Amino acid sequence: MVAIASNKVDTKALFELLGSVCDPEIPVLTLQDLGVLRDISVAGDEIIVTVTPTYAGCPALEVMSADIRTALTEAGFQQVTVKQQLSPAWTTDWMSASGREKLRAYGIAPPATTTCGPQSDRIECPQCGCDEIKVISEFGSTACKALYRCQDCLEPFDYFKCI
Ligand SMILES: [Zn+2]
Repeated sequence: MVAIASNKVDTKALFELLGSVCDPEIPVLTLQDLGVLRDISVAGDEIIVTVTPTYAGCPALEVMSADIRTALTEAGFQQVTVKQQLSPAWTTDWMSASGREKLRAYGIAPPATTTCGPQSDRIECPQCGCDEIKVISEFGSTACKALYRCQDCLEPFDYFKCI
């Protein structure tokens, strides 16, 4: 394990430890890829982790918080508090470039890049790269995704919505 609780806690090491925790919803993505880890601070024996959920009320947040606690407990920290920070709100702009690539490889079209223009203009089929796509449902397997079908290879795919 990375760190053992002591008077001098290396928060950088904790960022690395927690950054490698996987997103409960899309296990190929880490918290680092998503950019949801905002702050890690130490108050006495307590480790306070601040996260910004991908959107307010995301059901994955509970699981994510539990995973953060588990990772820190296994590293020797007994007192862990996970705080939510809702402002500024998370945006898909915070997702790392490697996170976008992992999504595509996983078969989910990543959010259209930095500025969120008209979404349908920039979404590509993760299977064949074709941009002739059709929306099937605004809500895919979860509320943060929409379901599309490629008009070329006819494969349906999830699109991680731009927010
Ligand atoms: Zn396709």
